Amino acid sequence: MIEILNSAKLARAGEAGALVADILQTLRGRTGVGTNLLEIDRWAEEMITEAGAQSCYVDYEPSFGRGPFGHYICTGVNDAVLHGRPRDRTLADGDLLTLDLAVSKGGVAADSAISFLVGEARPPESVEMIAATERALAAGIAAAVPGARTGDISHAIGTVLREAGYPVNTEFGGHGIGSTMHQDPHIANTGRPGRGYKLRPGLMLALEPWVMADTADLVTDADGWTLRSATGCRTAHSEHTIAITGDGARILTLPGAARS
Ligand code: MG
Repeated sequence: MIEILNSAKLARAGEAGALVADILQTLRGRTGVGTNLLEIDRWAEEMITEAGAQSCYVDYEPSFGRGPFGHYICTGVNDAVLHGRPRDRTLADGDLLTLDLAVSKGGVAADSAISFLVGEARPPESVEMIAATERALAAGIAAAVPGARTGDISHAIGTVLREAGYPVNTEFGGHGIGSTMHQDPHIANTGRPGRGYKLRPGLMLALEPWVMADTADLVTDADGWTLRSATGCRTAHSEHTIAITGDGARILTLPGAARS
């Protein structure tokens, strides 16, 4: 299903997006060497509940996962890139952490992901990989103008990722979002310009370029959820929820400082 949101729903989407962004930034600020992934999950649960919002993840039970997700946030460390299920693991200096969060507020969902380095260490390859996903996300957002097609977004994202030297996986990518977290259209992280669904005002999309340093292949962790790089290499992921407006894309998941 492809959903076109009316202005009232888009306003609520803005509130959901702001909440997701603020929770992610708060979690980033609290996370350091010695933080346990289960602590991050508990903080996320507290903030979602305090805000009167609902987790899109805790009861989520798609065909590719094993049973309900059972947690409030995805936490991927180093080689874990998608659907990272929080577990009893303490973070160390230089770990590359991805947090991916989706919540629903007022009946509208918003979804965002950030990758960052824990502690003081700044391994250059990891810094560059995170930056590449951020540049790809910015390029995808810039391509998301009314009248353009989903293939234009995919092409913009894929061009940046490939030019940065990363293989591109096409199994998992961006998606429509609105009353539910995952909707059509699917937005692969590479594609042909001029193809796909035509963008129009009121469409909400989650764009999410992600990469693995030296492979396009994933393996599923023993937990049945967490997807890791097949080679054990590091990974990174950047995601925003956007709304197509008459003027272009509006980013709904910008942190407070960037919004004002
Ligand atoms: Mg998403």
